[in-house]
Amino acid sequence: MNAYSAYRDAVKTLTESGCENAEFDARQLVEFCFSLNQTQLLMKSRENVDELKLKKFYDCVERRAGGEPLQYILEEWDFFDLKFKVGKGVLIPRPETEILPRLAIEHLKKSGGKVVYDLCSGSGCVGISIAKFFPNCRVYMFEISDEANYYARQNIKLHNLFNVEIIQADIKKGKKSFNIPNPDIIVSNPPYVPTYDIDLLQKEVLFEPRIALDGGIDGLDFYSIIAASWFKSLNNNGIIAMECGENQVRGVLSFFLNIAAGGRVIKDDNDIDRVIMLKGRKKND
Ligand code: GLN
Repeated sequence: MNAYSAYRDAVKTLTESGCENAEFDARQLVEFCFSLNQTQLLMKSRENVDELKLKKFYDCVERRAGGEPLQYILEEWDFFDLKFKVGKGVLIPRPETEILPRLAIEHLKKSGGKVVYDLCSGSGCVGISIAKFFPNCRVYMFEISDEANYYARQNIKLHNLFNVEIIQADIKKGKKSFNIPNPDIIVSNPPYVPTYDIDLLQKEVLFEPRIALDGGIDGLDFYSIIAASWFKSLNNNGIIAMECGENQVRGVLSFFLNIAAGGRVIKDDNDIDRVIMLKGRKKND
């Protein structure tokens, strides 16, 4: 069997399974299993491939056809031009979430701030991107899940960072004294899907950890905690940037109305209000 026939088989199987980007996914799996990019696949279309690699390829195609996200099968995914290790047990980095490190880095450059908190950090993609592109800062990533922290630790190593620390904690229990400096910026992509909407999501999303998605009945549980116990720890000139779900801006803002000193909402590439950026009040106001 040659790689090209295997690729054609995969496209057929994936199309029949209802996979939206069958050709793209099949090409990614070819590259992952046979180390052949698109051009090489065409050039070497007649060469036979190793049996073991072929078996691995068909296993991967089978998993994908069963709805498992491509990112878990490939074991890594790009975010903010960096590679991140992912797998079952951790939320897959989404392109819209790149707004968070972008805003954070802009703010750190402008304000001279150095201390970053990433609340509900998951794979670490947000905190690690900030730490990598703004090496002068110190990032504290708060995350309750052992499995997520397993990936975050790998990702810190992968990027060779010494300015990131994971704090295993339930942010819902409030900000305890962790013996760390107060933040100049807080970023967060907390779980925000309303509990009863989770089962309505794409079948791929159901492979992801519920704990990373479930934001309570209205999806807003975490924002209320962040407003009540984390926001006030911001240093002067500090800001917070939080991702939220479609149509959640008003709900999220309601928790911050009396405590923030202005801010703005940033849309994602699909024109959906996605990130809320708020300024903290000066401490002596
Ligand atoms: N953006 C994810 C989704 O809708 C949810 C991530 C989250 O809850 N933070 O699938």
